[in-house]
Amino acid sequence: MQSKRLRVSEDQLSERLDFDNPQFVFKPNEQHEWRQQGPYLICKSCDIQHAVYIGMKKKLIGLEEDGKPIFE
Ligand SMILES: [Zn+2]
Repeated sequence: MQSKRLRVSEDQLSERLDFDNPQFVFKPNEQHEWRQQGPYLICKSCDIQHAVYIGMKKKLIGLEEDGKPIFE
């Protein structure tokens, strides 16, 4: 007698659709190491690369102690 049956319940399938992974929470208030690239500030210190558009008229000259960008 064979009783081999692979049963995948609907509950098991829905567990894979969990996107609330805490590892991917972005913390905008953390300190960032900004580098200017054209009209963008590119963060070099975060695992997730992100950028902020500042426009061509601004020029990054440094960072404050708390990580805020200083413009000319
Ligand atoms: Zn960052």
